[in-house]
Amino acid sequence: MPNTPYPFASRVLANYVDGRFVETGQSFAAVDPVTANEIGRVALADRETVDAAVQAARRALKGPWGRMSLAERSALLGKVADMIEARFDDFVAAEIADTGKSILQATKIDIPRGAANFRNFAALAQGRSNQSFESETPDGLGAINYSIAKPLGVVAVVSPWNLPLLLLTWKVAPALACGNTVVAKPSEETPSTATLLAEVMDAAGMPPGVFNLVHGFGGGSTGEWLVGHPDIDAITFTGESSTGSAIMRSAANGVKPISFELGGKNAAIIFADADFDAAVAGTMRSVFTNCGQVCLCSERVYVERPIFERFVAELAERARAITIGDPYDGADMGPLISAQHREKVLGYYRLAVEEGATIVTGGGVPHFGNELDQGAFVEPTILTGLGDDARCVREEIFGPVCHIAPFDNEDEVIERTNDSPYGLASAVWTSDVKRAHRVARQLEVGVVWVNDWFLRDLRTPFGGVKLSGIGREGGEHSLAFYSEPVNICIKL
Ligand code: NAD
Repeated sequence: MPNTPYPFASRVLANYVDGRFVETGQSFAAVDPVTANEIGRVALADRETVDAAVQAARRALKGPWGRMSLAERSALLGKVADMIEARFDDFVAAEIADTGKSILQATKIDIPRGAANFRNFAALAQGRSNQSFESETPDGLGAINYSIAKPLGVVAVVSPWNLPLLLLTWKVAPALACGNTVVAKPSEETPSTATLLAEVMDAAGMPPGVFNLVHGFGGGSTGEWLVGHPDIDAITFTGESSTGSAIMRSAANGVKPISFELGGKNAAIIFADADFDAAVAGTMRSVFTNCGQVCLCSERVYVERPIFERFVAELAERARAITIGDPYDGADMGPLISAQHREKVLGYYRLAVEEGATIVTGGGVPHFGNELDQGAFVEPTILTGLGDDARCVREEIFGPVCHIAPFDNEDEVIERTNDSPYGLASAVWTSDVKRAHRVARQLEVGVVWVNDWFLRDLRTPFGGVKLSGIGREGGEHSLAFYSEPVNICIKL
């Protein structure tokens, strides 16, 4: 079990601009959500620092990076992956210090995926170079056409706090693999693994300006200054839908390409013919993983009436067995990201009662009798009894909570699932293969899992519809977003 000290205990988390680590004279606190203790200071990037980062990224497009062959670029990204793995324990310690997430989650998902993103996208980009088509036009024009993929230029990457390294690298890696340069702004809640990534880029010999990192807040701060900067060429963003709207307004000024992965209010649908134990275990994961702070988590669970009571009882029993506490004590579930987010989640727990919900389990905060009482913990919570128009059933809560409702037939559950402003993911549990196909294609979401949840092949399209996003990333879809195809037509 890695138990390395927090890597930034005695030094400021700096911005990384043009190959140098820079402080700005202003800073904000990095806070451990397990105890609410300040664990470090983060250099706040002001407007000038953001501008310097964008200009450095623009210059780097014309420097050694722009002249590198795809093979050289991919080799460099492979080195970044190797070096993340070489500092695995530092990354794990940093991620847990910022988020309080479980050791299992950090060691099995967040950090390995962070490294894998670089390796996968470097390999994919190399594979693609063989795919440019070249053919004589069939219409007698006497010309050949071929197409090349050029980088977009300077890509602004704005990422959230729930899977910090994983979601940052999910965008940085394909952007770099396609030859762009990057200015990244991680969430103010989770600055640490992003800063370690800058250290790794530096040590790997990434040319100055190719990867830049600016720390700070969103609106009226670093994030807004970055996405509003006239010299960026594209914006890729993961976060809340309302933030997506604000960023879209900035992007509109320069007609910039955007890729948005936003919020969700995802449904799990459990038919009576499903493998009951698998459906319960899968739904436990889909509701409570990462303290419910995964955009793909199920907050709406629909269970076919014949198994409704049994399903609720079984899920509640397992939810009560979840151990909550310090990740380093082996707890299954850590805190929420912050005291502020805890207030939001507890607000929904109170609202659920006001809306007439039955609290099957949870609904409050755990008591430890020690410094963990200052942490951002909440109880895993299961609700029943709300109508489909209750706010707790329609709005994203982003905590360890779900509402379970019975349903009577397939058409009804499809309609209720689709009656949502969001459209990110659904999980369907059934042993009837025809039904699985029939239902899956009618759901208005970007991802449907049948008899599983969060099973990811990184080549598949990932994203959402409605308020859940614009565009798809993953595999070829990422390469398509992060590059500009140019058709070249040669008259013979
Ligand atoms: P958030 O929108 O509050 O913040 C995300 C990032 O945007 C942060 O870096 C923040 O500083 C920045 N930001 C905020 N306002 C900005 C502005 N006006 N201009 C520029 N930048 C700004 O989201 P969060 O609370 O960090 O993350 C949780 C949300 O992210 C949830 O809604 C969750 O569903 C969503 N999410 C979606 C996916 C997906 O793939 N669809 C994945 C993870 C999280």
